[in-house]
Amino acid sequence: MSGLVLKGITKKFGGTYAVEQADLTFGEGALTALLGPSGCGKTTLLRMIAGLEAPTTGAIMLGKRNITDLPAHKRKFGMVFQSFALFPHLSVRENVAYSLTISGVARTAAAEKADTLLDLVQLSQMGDRRIGELSGGQRQRVAIARALAQEPDVFLLDEPMSALDAKLREEMQVELRLLQQRLGITTIVVTHDQREAMTMADEIVVMSNGRVEQKGSPQDIYHRPENAFVADFIGKANFFDGISEKGGIKVRGRTLAAEPGFHAGYPVRVAIRPERAALDDTDGPNRLNATVTFVRDLGPHREYHLDTEIGPMIVEYAIGEGLSPLAKGDKTEVRLPPDALHVFPNTTAMAAE
Ligand code: ATP
Repeated sequence: MSGLVLKGITKKFGGTYAVEQADLTFGEGALTALLGPSGCGKTTLLRMIAGLEAPTTGAIMLGKRNITDLPAHKRKFGMVFQSFALFPHLSVRENVAYSLTISGVARTAAAEKADTLLDLVQLSQMGDRRIGELSGGQRQRVAIARALAQEPDVFLLDEPMSALDAKLREEMQVELRLLQQRLGITTIVVTHDQREAMTMADEIVVMSNGRVEQKGSPQDIYHRPENAFVADFIGKANFFDGISEKGGIKVRGRTLAAEPGFHAGYPVRVAIRPERAALDDTDGPNRLNATVTFVRDLGPHREYHLDTEIGPMIVEYAIGEGLSPLAKGDKTEVRLPPDALHVFPNTTAMAAE
């Protein structure tokens, strides 16, 4: 096997596209997160990969093999669902061994294999328990062990952490990622939680309205968003509407030094991350007058809400970064380093023209 490739995958339900023209490569041994808001098509895409849903058009390749029409049970893909879908009347060991026994593996061999897998997910003492006697995190580990029993070529997980509370979820993200790296298994995880995607993934596929907006490493997606949707959905961003001109962008009568990338007169949206705007005395372009309208202390970070010459803006500082604290009503200056400005076409303004 060498990776999973989707070629022009589309899924239509009635007249609506749930997934539109997805061309994606999932690297062998990599963990890829499908990330996007509710209804963007990520589960439909995962279900097509699993063979639980037939694509309307396009092809799914596993290495050189076209598996588009291969039924789910012949794909050798392991799946973990949101609900875990464990059998409550079976023991933990029997749950893990289930797929092996129904595919003809002898009972003792299946139980031995199950014990090895339970060891892998740190549940070696729990084989005899019933599912009802486990915590949420332990159930999730059983679901993972069960999905790994068939030594799948590809491991698919649909919102695997959503039944867990916030703290446990973070622990399980790290645990799952370490396990996946140890096994080197090609893995695809559906999530709507960007922190989860950034914690676990080698690559993130950001989706909206059935379309792939961007695919890249967590660093790429955060620092080099390719469009306004990605900049807005991943992390926080301040947005300003403006017009491209030579060497800059005009926003509310001010020209910001920036690399516009568009011809003069083009409507654009400028974005800057709250931690990239600076409230310091360093000389540089794009200094704006500002008034502090609100201060939010978030423990390790402090957020300053500003009213600036070009509109409202949020600036974030890590505590200990050396900035003297500002208070509501203080006058200050905010600096927008040109290399921190992302400039995108303003599709809404263009559509209105
Ligand atoms: P969520 O995070 O809420 O699960 P999602 O990103 O996984 O959302 P999908 O479940 O893939 O989104 O749904 C994508 C779109 O396709 C939605 O508009 C949904 O209503 C529609 N859809 C999904 N399954 C079906 C179906 N079987 N019949 C009709 N429409 C469907």
